[in-house]
Amino acid sequence: MKLTSPENVKKIMSKGGFRFKKSLGQNFLIDEDVLAKTIEASEVTKEIGVIEIGPGIGTLTQALSEKAGKVVAIELDREIAAYLKKAFVAYGNVEIIQGDALKMDLEEVIEQHFANMPTVVVANLPYYITTPLIMKFLEDTPKIDSVTVMIQKEVADRMVAKPSTSEYGALSVAVQYYSTPKIITTVSPQSFMPPPKVTSAVIRLDIKNHTRPFVKNEKKFFKVVKAAFSQKRKTLANSLSSQYSVPKEQLKSLIYEVCGSDNVRAEDLGIKEFVKISENLQ
Ligand code: SAM
Repeated sequence: MKLTSPENVKKIMSKGGFRFKKSLGQNFLIDEDVLAKTIEASEVTKEIGVIEIGPGIGTLTQALSEKAGKVVAIELDREIAAYLKKAFVAYGNVEIIQGDALKMDLEEVIEQHFANMPTVVVANLPYYITTPLIMKFLEDTPKIDSVTVMIQKEVADRMVAKPSTSEYGALSVAVQYYSTPKIITTVSPQSFMPPPKVTSAVIRLDIKNHTRPFVKNEKKFFKVVKAAFSQKRKTLANSLSSQYSVPKEQLKSLIYEVCGSDNVRAEDLGIKEFVKISENLQ
């Protein structure tokens, strides 16, 4: 059954007695072109295992199961998860797990289901938890090779943003520290049922082929980045001095040494500069 057809989505919803749950970010994909572009960007093959977060009625799941070795789809909605378990039995390579993806140990899921298979994430994410989910993939799940997801365009723009732009912030630094992000395509609200309020984008984060900058102490590095962007309009020296008990003059001379000026703001620094500041801050 073609799941991108609005008529079929309505049929499945009414036959199952389901209603679209706004609180769970249920906006189902009804755009064949966006589906094809997402699958293509994910580069899945029969050798690869896929984790999908929030399969909904299974539109992406169905397309993924044709290309991937195995798909493990995690759905929070109990009714929909029960429906999916029956609907995908015949596919043979799809496993449905009911639960909250944010609370799940994804390393354990990978170990249990993908043994020695390379693993990627492909999903149309529930937008109310986009950032914590992405950070969970990047920070807590080292075995994930890439992440190809549909998210709010505004968040995707922040993830790929370069220094000295208005979108650049702590999220850009974190995502670009762990991966090479690339926006694949933008997606209009009309590509979903019901349409969300915002424009979306498909973004791919390449983790496996990304070289991370060398950082001695990651915790310290991210603390500095967070402190630097906590008061975006202040100079870096002022933002850092409100969080670190280092004399202001000392901070200024470190910033001058790294940036060639002590009058810079957090948004002017690239990842390498943040690394240098954090390595030299006591
Ligand atoms: N993949 C489907 C599609 O493209 O049509 C549905 C995507 S919809 C934007 C997001 C899905 O995530 C919904 O099915 C929702 O129930 C599910 N969801 C919401 N919160 C979740 C969570 N914490 N863990 C797992 N799934 C969740």
